[in-house]
Amino acid sequence: MRDCGDCTACCLLTTVRELSKDDGVLCPHCTTEIGCGIYEDRPLSCREFKCFWLAEGWPTHLRPDKCNVMFEALPGVTTVLALPVVSSETFDTDVYRVIQKMVNKGRAVIFQRECFLPAGKTKEDVLQDIQKVLRINNGCSNI
Ligand code: SF4
Ligand code: SF4
Repeated sequence: MRDCGDCTACCLLTTVRELSKDDGVLCPHCTTEIGCGIYEDRPLSCREFKCFWLAEGWPTHLRPDKCNVMFEALPGVTTVLALPVVSSETFDTDVYRVIQKMVNKGRAVIFQRECFLPAGKTKEDVLQDIQKVLRINNGCSNI
């Protein structure tokens, strides 16, 4: 099975509820030397998380630490988040091809506060998607 190698992008970019870690804050267990310092005991959300690169078997140069963007599917909706790993805008040009492919397949992509929308989808649709995800994450089931 494919593994993450030296990449630790999701240890910065994702929320880990079990550790009260917010997105955008590097996990205190993440080290440059060995990656996850509690790998055998890491929380379930870390075990279950798969960025698109890992889940879809994308080419090596699109691994988040290499192309500087991590693509994350939001559960239950067709909107995808594309999250910069670094603040600079030096992304692999293939990142934009990936976004276009996703849009062609009917997914909306949010990247750098910009919405890339498939035909027939509006920004309001995407906002509804996001609100739905936020309600799911807050434990609301009456959607
Ligand atoms: S961002 Fe993707 S490739 Fe990188 S460590 Fe997380 S799951 Fe693995
Ligand atoms: S516990 Fe490990 S895998 Fe999970 S965010 Fe922290 S360093 Fe990454």
